[in-house]
Order: sequence, then C-alpha cells, then structure tokens
Amino acid sequence: MANQQLNRPGKLIDRFGRRVNYVRISVTDRCDFRCIYCMCEEMTFVPRAQLLTLEEMATIARAFTELGVDKIRITGGEPLIRRNVVSLFYSIGALPGLRELVTTTNGSQLPLLAKDLKAAGVKRINISLDSLDPEKFRRITRFGELHKVLAGIDAALDAGFERIKINSVIIKNRNHDEIINLVRFAGERAMDISFIEEMPLGLNDDHNPNETYYSSDQVRAELERAYTLLPTTETTGGPSKYFRIGETGTRVGFISPHSHNFCGSCNRVRLTCDGRLLLFLGHEHSVDLRHVIRSHPGDMERLKQAIRDAMSIKPEGHEFDLSAKPVILRHMNVTGG
Ligand code: SAM
Ligand code: SF4
Repeated sequence: MANQQLNRPGKLIDRFGRRVNYVRISVTDRCDFRCIYCMCEEMTFVPRAQLLTLEEMATIARAFTELGVDKIRITGGEPLIRRNVVSLFYSIGALPGLRELVTTTNGSQLPLLAKDLKAAGVKRINISLDSLDPEKFRRITRFGELHKVLAGIDAALDAGFERIKINSVIIKNRNHDEIINLVRFAGERAMDISFIEEMPLGLNDDHNPNETYYSSDQVRAELERAYTLLPTTETTGGPSKYFRIGETGTRVGFISPHSHNFCGSCNRVRLTCDGRLLLFLGHEHSVDLRHVIRSHPGDMERLKQAIRDAMSIKPEGHEFDLSAKPVILRHMNVTGG
C-alpha cells in the first residue's frame, strides 16, 4: 500500500503513510544572535553563492503547494535579517492552496517588519524569548538585547496577527527560574507560550546539554503549582502538546523531543537555505533541490518529481541520545528551527 501511495501524483505521502503538508523554509543560516544552544560564538556560514535566491525559494514553495502542502513556515537562522525577505513573504503568501504562512523569529527586526509581514499574509508568528532579565538574556543569546526583542513583541501585538506564540528553551541553571515569569508575561499579552527541551544539535561549545537538561515534565510540575492547566486536544499541527491555562485563557505547549517522541505523526519536511530538502530534523537524509532547480531552470515537473521521490527516504523517527556525543553536526540555524 505504501508504495502505491508514494507514487500517487498530487500528494506527498511517505513510506510510513504520513501525509506531508507542512514545509519549513530556512531562508538564511545567519543570525544577529548566537544563542548558546543553537550556535557557537564563531561560526562559518554558507557562502552566499550557495544560498538559494529568494526567487528560487519562491519557486520551490510553489512546487510544494502544488503537491498539496498548505502550511509554510519561514525560519532560519534569523529569517528577518535576510535582505528583501519581505518580498518572499509576499510571493509565498499569494500562492493558491496555501492555508497558513507562519514564521519563527528572534523578534529583533519586528519593530521594522511586523506590519509588512502581516500585510504579506503571515497569520501566526512565533517569537523566541528565553529570559526577561536583560543580563541573562544577553548571556543566553550572547549578542541579544532584551529591550529590542520586547519592542519587537509590542510591534507584533500592534500589527494584529491572529496568534503570537513565545518559544522558550529552558536550560537548567540558566533560565529555569523564569518559567512562571515567562508564562505571566505571555498571558498578560494574550500570547501562547511553548517550552522546548534543548536538543543536542551541533557542537555546543557552551555547556553540556546532558547536565543542563530540564524536562517538560519538570516545567509542567512547576507551572501547576501556580496555574491550572486544563488538558486540551487543540493542536497547531506541530509537535507541541498543549494545555489551556485556566487563569489566563491562553495556551501553554510543551515540545519534548527527549521525553515524548513525536515522530509518529510527523507531517513536515525542511528546506535549508542552500537548497537541501531535509526529510527529518535528526537525520542526514536529504535531497539537493538547488541542483535540480539550477540544472533544469523552469522545469517545474522535474522539481515536483524530485520532491515526490524524496518521500521514499523520509525516516521513521529521531535519534537523539543525551548521553552520547552529538552525532548530528548541523546546527539548528542551518537546519531551520
Ligand atoms: N532565529 C529564530 C528564532 O530564534 O526564533 C528562528 C530560528 S531558531 C533556530 C528556531 C527555534 O529553534 C527557536 O525557538 C530556538 O529557541 C529553537 N532552538 C534552537 N536551537 C535549539 C536546540 N538546540 N534545542 C531546542 N530548540 C532550539
Ligand atoms: Fe539565532 Fe534563533 Fe539560533 Fe538564537 S535560536 S542563534 S536567534 S537562529
């Protein structure tokens, strides 16, 4: 049955019967921050000539929507520092068949761009915020300035997105004492919040994730001392498990790659800024779509066939092991978080 599904035109179904309808596009691996769990202080970035152009990204996005993808997330690196990125949001936002255009950002450019993103059709936006203390924020992001991100959050609130969600990676002894503050901050502004367990991606030169692991269950237990968490079946199509907070009416999500494996329902693939289609976050399985698009410019059918063929190498699950040295040497900024 699986093979018949694989070859069916017009839909992307992998060999485990999972329908892929969600693509995350990393538009750059560069960033104005250097978060300790995501990048080293000194980084080598993809040479500019190897980057997909914004037009190539728009073409690949179109191919995906013609194959039934109805949700696209623009991410990075920091997506909003790529020059002219707003034009890509406009191109993708206008694609027929697209139900949701969303983005994940560190918020630093939102004072400038929030209104443009909304006008281009972005419905929901995730903003990363790990600390409300300027010093701690600086230590976690290395270069980040909290007041700029807070101004970005205000700009996003003013722009009127359907939903804004804060993403917080919790690291023991860095920011685990800010969980309640972060939830209060989000709740007061009618924003949802997700807590993310740190994933051991890349060569982390700051701390050992094995020693600083703080589980979603620990976060939840702490929250339950201050708030009423009501189970909900609501989902945004991602790996977050959500609860509604009785006191605020907003939602709290837990993204738990270690403690709760979510691969069984994985509906997504990722496009890196240099054009590799990654079939899975924790794996090296990939297909070089830049080669396809540059060796056969304008050949949409060939591009779509390459994407269809890629479904046959999407693996079943992930391979994170906190006790082992990371075997996946890509950093999150390259993968597209
Ligand atoms: N620069 C944008 C931002 O920070 O939101 C978008 C890209 S970033 C890679 C996307 C998300 O991945 C962020 O919420 C970040 O906190 C998360 N992230 C990065 N490295 C991670 C890691 N090692 N484990 C868990 N989450 C990580
Ligand atoms: Fe930049 Fe986002 Fe990675 Fe932080 S998590 S270094 S903001 S890409």
